[in-house]
Amino acid sequence: MEKRESETNKVVKGLLHPVFPVLILVLFLGIASVLKFGIDRQDRHQLENNLANEAQAVAVNLEREFLAHVQAIRRMAKRLEANPDMTEELWSQDARNYLDDFGVYQALEWIDPQFVIRWLEPVSGNEEVIGYNVAFSPERRKALEAAQANGTIDVSGVVDLRQGGTGLVIYVPVHSGDENKGFIAGVFLMETLARQLLTSRVLDDFHISIFEGGALAYELNAGREFATDYSHTVEVDLPTVDWSLSITPSTTWVNDRKSIWPWVTFISILFMGIMISLTTLLVQIVLKRNRALLKTRKELELEIDQRKAVQQDLVRLESTDALTGLANRRFFMEDLTHTLSIADRQMRQVALVMMDLDRFQVLNDTLGHQFGDELLIKVSERLNSLSNEKILVAYSGGDEFMICQQHVDSLDDVIYLLGQIKQCFAEPFEVQNQAHGITATMGIALYPQSGLDTDTLLRNADIALYRAKDQGRNTYQFYTEGMQEREVMRLELDKDLSQALANNEFVLHFQPQVDLESAEIHSAEALIRWQHPQRGLLPPIDFIPLAEESGRITEIGRWVVMAACEQLARWRGTAFEQLRIAVNLSGRELDDEGLVDHIQEALEAHNVPPGQLEVELTEEIFIQNIEHNLNQLSRLHKLGVHLAIDDFGVGYSSLGYLRDFPVDLLKIDRSFITEVTERHDDAVITRAVINLAHNLGIRVVAEGVETMEQLAFLKDHHCDLAQGYLISRPVPAASLEKALREGTMVTDIPADSRI
Ligand code: C2E
Ligand code: MG
Ligand code: MG
Repeated sequence: MEKRESETNKVVKGLLHPVFPVLILVLFLGIASVLKFGIDRQDRHQLENNLANEAQAVAVNLEREFLAHVQAIRRMAKRLEANPDMTEELWSQDARNYLDDFGVYQALEWIDPQFVIRWLEPVSGNEEVIGYNVAFSPERRKALEAAQANGTIDVSGVVDLRQGGTGLVIYVPVHSGDENKGFIAGVFLMETLARQLLTSRVLDDFHISIFEGGALAYELNAGREFATDYSHTVEVDLPTVDWSLSITPSTTWVNDRKSIWPWVTFISILFMGIMISLTTLLVQIVLKRNRALLKTRKELELEIDQRKAVQQDLVRLESTDALTGLANRRFFMEDLTHTLSIADRQMRQVALVMMDLDRFQVLNDTLGHQFGDELLIKVSERLNSLSNEKILVAYSGGDEFMICQQHVDSLDDVIYLLGQIKQCFAEPFEVQNQAHGITATMGIALYPQSGLDTDTLLRNADIALYRAKDQGRNTYQFYTEGMQEREVMRLELDKDLSQALANNEFVLHFQPQVDLESAEIHSAEALIRWQHPQRGLLPPIDFIPLAEESGRITEIGRWVVMAACEQLARWRGTAFEQLRIAVNLSGRELDDEGLVDHIQEALEAHNVPPGQLEVELTEEIFIQNIEHNLNQLSRLHKLGVHLAIDDFGVGYSSLGYLRDFPVDLLKIDRSFITEVTERHDDAVITRAVINLAHNLGIRVVAEGVETMEQLAFLKDHHCDLAQGYLISRPVPAASLEKALREGTMVTDIPADSRI
């Protein structure tokens, strides 16, 4: 294909070469010349034929005329034969008659048998010839004698006449042999003979040469301009003389007969050649111009393409986030609009995934923005590996990413994508030479079920994301009907939360922890409630995650510590003086550098011994920012505050930290306790945790104890403390005091229920 193209190119190049029109011209010149030459030859041939015909005609005429004269002279001789006594007078009379009839004779003579001219007519002008012996040479004598003997005629040939000029003489013998009575001779002046014999047309047009025995004997019209390259010679058949006749046409004759066609043909073809080569030249110019135009067009197109590319680059820059290299929010939204319109036409679904990195804010605040940026870049790199023509990944700012799955045929497609996203977080991220396990929480909205336009979809994906966060992060949540209402409520709550502290709407409820060995209560966990003016008493799940999100948790935490200390102060000097209060702190609160100082201030403000305060933290504090957290905990420990690990067993950390952190208490998560008497593995884990903690010198409390069996199990396995609805629900301080005072709480297994 390419080869053929290059051959075509070569041909085109050749056709466009400046030599090509010249070649055409030369070719036509050649053709014209050959044709001209051919027609010229034809023409010349024709001319020569004409000339030959003319020559033949002249020769024939000459022969005929000559013979006619011979006959005439012969008749004169016959008459003399018949009338031997003819007088000179009579003969002259006869001769004059002849002369009148044939003006061609110079003279008519009677020559005696001795070859002497005797009689002559006309006499004037020929006088000196009388008495002249015509056998002036041996050859002449021989010829005349032969004629005399045989009675044949003799022609003298062209000779210089005695009378002057050249001519020829025809001798006709009168009787032959011995009876010979001499000859009748007719003398012709060549000039006159020729003129008489030849028509004026022939005389005008030709130069005539008469050759006798090969030598030029006579020339007619010599000296005029003739076309010497055209001449034709014919033999003249005359008795006794060897004549040939050559005629040469005048240039006028030749020119008149010369055909104009050789030149017409030559000029026509040459003209054609010129026209064709000029046309070719024109076509070449047009083609070259066209080529130049095409080239210019190509260059223009190239320039346009380059400009387009630059524009695309600009658009790309505008549509790309500078830090992560992912599509930015603006581009994502535009693309989503487009995607939705296509999906609408193709009756497809679209999934919009909103994703937040868990605890990114904390990391960013504590490890610095540089760290945050690097982490975002690393996360983006992994997420970007999911991008393809059906999946668009964008970074919308902060720790938020957006992913659009453009072709969704079934929910499985989305679940698969979510799995892939989760896989991106499977390996820790190496940032600033340290590996960091990062998790992400996602909210998903589906088109068209979860919204018919981009804004609705985006809002609903956001709502789903918040729901997922509420559920404890590192998870995902699809948007469902009703979420919106909850979201509206959540937003309202968030607004109300800002007023809650100032309005003193928080209260602490207390849930006692029973010492399983002594069946006594020495401690209670303080659990916060929000006495909402409209919604009533709200559990922590409804507002703690919100407060963590907005950062209000720090203030709330300080309030809790202060309220707990106040309570301890209030109990001072009462029967509940020895009670210890455990407060819950979220990981976010631990980030607060002023936390320890504040706790100390609260204790001092209410003159509470630090040992009466316990702090409950979940395992997540051992995953991130470990150094900082260890430092905070050490300070608390130094202060004398007890430390408890809440919800133990569900976290993600290794147990190694128990060795490094100053932990006083482990709270086995409720999920192990709920079925501890039914599920073997839960029982095994619970026992193991108890043993492990005891080996490390740490006490153990079981949360969520609801049945006697559970209590019995825990007691049997030497769990130190138990907390749960079986003993008491979280209740206001007054209720707790009352129950304690009245001893109405279940604190031990009745002796009769023991197996
Ligand atoms: P947590 O610290 O693990 O608290 C125990 C939760 O279990 C409490 O829920 C309590 O009411 C519930 N509970 C206790 N015994 C049982 C039982 O036998 N059965 C069942 N089903 N549940 C039981 P609550 O009060 O709703 O608190 C939920 C979580 O909110 C707490 O979990 C804690 O992590 C958090 N929280 C509570 N108060 C505060 C606070 O002052 N500050 C912070 N940061 N978090 C708090
Ligand atoms: Mg707790
Ligand atoms: Mg707990």
